[in-house]
Amino acid sequence: MSKIIYLDNAATTQLDENVFEEMKPYFVEHYGNPSSVYSVASESKKAIDIARERVANSIGAEVSEIYFTNGGTESDNWAIKGIAENYVNKGKHIITTKIEHHAVLHTCEYLEKQGYEITYLNVDEDGLINIEELEKSIRPDTILISIMFANNEIGTIEPIKEIGEIAKKHNIIFHTDAVQAFGHVPIHVNEMNIDLLSASGHKVNGPKGIGFLYIRKNIKLKSFIHGGAQERQRRAGTENVPGIVGLGAAAKIACDNMEERAKHLIKQRDYLMEQIEKNVDYIRLNGHRTKRLPNNVNFCFRFIEGESLLISLDMEGICASSGSACTSGSLDPSHVLLAIGLPHEIAHGSLRLTLSHNTTKEELDFVVEQLKDIVNRLRAMSPLYEDFVKAQK
Ligand code: PLP
Repeated sequence: MSKIIYLDNAATTQLDENVFEEMKPYFVEHYGNPSSVYSVASESKKAIDIARERVANSIGAEVSEIYFTNGGTESDNWAIKGIAENYVNKGKHIITTKIEHHAVLHTCEYLEKQGYEITYLNVDEDGLINIEELEKSIRPDTILISIMFANNEIGTIEPIKEIGEIAKKHNIIFHTDAVQAFGHVPIHVNEMNIDLLSASGHKVNGPKGIGFLYIRKNIKLKSFIHGGAQERQRRAGTENVPGIVGLGAAAKIACDNMEERAKHLIKQRDYLMEQIEKNVDYIRLNGHRTKRLPNNVNFCFRFIEGESLLISLDMEGICASSGSACTSGSLDPSHVLLAIGLPHEIAHGSLRLTLSHNTTKEELDFVVEQLKDIVNRLRAMSPLYEDFVKAQK
């Protein structure tokens, strides 16, 4: 197989060609600044309005509750720092989890240095939070609960509706980082009592450098980026018109095809998990077996370094990841795998394979074949594996 097999769709996705077609006119033809009054500019303004409506429809929000940002990281920063600043008179306590993306965790660490108190909820061995632990951790000075919709490494989907009910019952603002879930699983901000939601274009076959923050209309959130009056004076800076158009188009395509794609992906995902489990020994599935993103497969391989696995797979044209794109590059094991209770030596041997709706069964069969050979080869070089085999005899 000579072509690339791209199984790192949680890191980023290929831009959908139809999305690209919709974006193109806004680079060269309708390039007007949407804030200007002449008619060339009104085309850009109209396109932004359409995109905002598409995004709002995709999560059951009102058009006026969608604010475009440059991506998931900015949305997370704005939501958390914004609530911390605006609700400081009520208190300085925030609840989150140990398995959030660094866009949330590092923002919380920053706030700790500013005198805020953060509770980092534990998760169980599948990566699920405990609803009772969440409720017990609420205090009179709690101003925000920020819990991710689905985890970017192990794919576990959190009980968002239950979390929303608890937040509502205690009158606490609920933010969810839905960067991995948006466009893949149904989201309804009212049914789920979500007050703030972060999402990003490049995870759903949209462009990079664009995302949005949903802000429920009664939430007080000041501007995070100061400057001009764009985004109803809440997010300054000339709008990334082609990006916004691309995000709107990607959101619409993802939502229109969600049911059909999810069905297909779940079949492919379960097939891949089954084949890996059938063909390779001494492995552990990370994340919940069913409460997981339709496209996520994550295993730990004992006696193997995740990095060696990645390099060997790359030599066969297979793009995968060990932990998240942001943790790779560091030698520390993933904080998510440690939080689900894995010892360091096992957490080091993780592999994340994230599928797209275009992934074929033939590609998956090839990946499993390669994986089997690579794991055998790497284990044959491992003194730890040799000792383990001797001890088994
Ligand atoms: N949150 C989660 C759960 C993510 O997976 C990512 C990206 O991997 C981000 C936030 C950051 O999003 P962006 O790359 O759009 O800044």
